[in-house]
Amino acid sequence: MSDYDLRERLAGARAGGMPAETTEQLDREFLATEPKPVGRVSAWHDEADVVIVGYGGAGVCAALEAARSGADVLALERAGGGGGTTAMSTAHIYMGGGTRVQKAVGLEDTTEDMFNFIMASSDDPDEEKVRLFCDESVDHFDWLVEQGVPFKDSIYPERTPEQPNDDCLLWSGNEKAHPFRELAKPSARGHKVKNQAEGGPILFRILAEHAEKAGVRLQCDTRVLNLVVRAEDGRVCGVVVRQDQEERYIRARRGVILCAGGFVMNREMLRNHIPSMLEENVSPVGNMYDDGAGIRMGMSARGTAIHMDEYFVTVVWYPPSSLTKGILVNEYGQRFINEDSYHGRCAEHAKRQGRAFLIADNEIFGYPESGLELIATEDSIADLEAALNLPTQTLQNTVAVYNANAEKGEDPVFHKHADWIKPLDSPPYAAIECSYGIAPYLTFTLGGLRTRVGGEVVTEDDQDVPGLYAAGRNACGIPRSSWGYCSGTSVADATFFGRITGRSAAANEPWS
Ligand SMILES: Cc1cc2nc3c(=O)[nH]c(=O)nc-3n(C[C@H](O)[C@H](O)[C@H](O)COP(=O)(O)OP(=O)(O)OC[C@H]3O[C@@H](n4cnc5c(N)ncnc54)[C@H](O)[C@@H]3O)c2cc1C
Repeated sequence: MSDYDLRERLAGARAGGMPAETTEQLDREFLATEPKPVGRVSAWHDEADVVIVGYGGAGVCAALEAARSGADVLALERAGGGGGTTAMSTAHIYMGGGTRVQKAVGLEDTTEDMFNFIMASSDDPDEEKVRLFCDESVDHFDWLVEQGVPFKDSIYPERTPEQPNDDCLLWSGNEKAHPFRELAKPSARGHKVKNQAEGGPILFRILAEHAEKAGVRLQCDTRVLNLVVRAEDGRVCGVVVRQDQEERYIRARRGVILCAGGFVMNREMLRNHIPSMLEENVSPVGNMYDDGAGIRMGMSARGTAIHMDEYFVTVVWYPPSSLTKGILVNEYGQRFINEDSYHGRCAEHAKRQGRAFLIADNEIFGYPESGLELIATEDSIADLEAALNLPTQTLQNTVAVYNANAEKGEDPVFHKHADWIKPLDSPPYAAIECSYGIAPYLTFTLGGLRTRVGGEVVTEDDQDVPGLYAAGRNACGIPRSSWGYCSGTSVADATFFGRITGRSAAANEPWS
């Protein structure tokens, strides 16, 4: 079906007063089915050297650096204001190698340890990107500070997904857990922007103020629908937008940067790439425009999307941190992970089981702050096993083996750190529901366009798509596995590579 047929159906749908979701469905089909040939653009409504699609974390950083490199920059944002998911986030930013805050709290870290750790956190890391991200991590921290982004010289020492105050550093991943602690010397690298609550709004406001001062023009309520390309060589020349109920064309002299976020709100894309995310009780986290439009536009211009089946997932089962001394077991009463792993890593492993329960004794028990359900309490492990309908002797055997080793402060099976080991021998015993599809899980997507280290979008046969760039969750960057995800890697990747991509696009040769 051509874009013209679809446009007709859309016009008919609107005129006929079809329900909004039907129009939205047609919009999705229309979006990026094929790029618009530049020869069919009769007139440009506006133009700039660099056009940014989406004004969240990656978009504002790309815009700011492109403008500071001397480019005329136009940012297009679908919502009524910028910020996107970045402005909703906690704003943990994963940085290390010896930042001011790490040094102030007496933490040692090296670029090499950070590099080894991130390389170990995915099956298919992009080594060139990881190398640059780590080598320039301290510079990225200093740059954020220069812009005025506040970070307190403090660490929140407790094991928690999110500090309840304005402390900066958090052990925000798997650094101290097996097998990572053997591969790289652990250090805390999750830097939260200073605020009692989420830091995202502060981070975005500060960066957006600088972008405005640098001359970035921002047009909100502007939905980018499609790319405009030159037929001969596929050069991206501009974008098609909907503004004031009209379709308009905006020329990009040097490049278009796709920064429109992930696709967790697009059920059709989830069905195609990560159908397990459509299970009951799995909530997408992100802004409502995380519909994958940027990724699809990039693909329509011959870009390749990679790791589209990768995601972040979590079930928040601590704090209280004492629950880490419990054990996570499946429907056969068997452990499946070292419980001192990051909550997202535990969640990914729990997701792979049929059922998952956290078992605690009276000494370590506390109701999970997230409200996970306590489903059984019994005076013996045998009774708890029966209450959970586990095969006879399974949980009893698991606890017997666990306790025998715990007496020696050891966990030879899953290598939980000694700090979190104690025998489960203080009745009554409790089981907390952690099963995927039953307990509340949260998710967002990590797959996106394959880009070079400078943000250039590449085709399946490894050619640059001329004039096209991507950053943030429109690109597949540093975070690319649920089992190795660490809090802070998404905003760090979006802001770091957003900046680099802005500079690359500003330096690109203009087309005529
Ligand atoms: C509650 C919450 C907490 C989080 N906390 C953290 C954290 O602490 N650390 C961390 O690393 N990650 C965190 N994340 C994830 C992280 O915030 C996001 O993955 C990241 O900010 C995405 O940045 P981005 O620049 O790619 O996208 P965004 O910041 O979402 O920006 C994309 C922008 O594009 C716009 N857009 C979309 N489609 C179009 C279109 N067709 N035309 C024009 N504009 C369009 C959107 O409206 C949006 O403004 C959190 C997420 C949530 C929901």
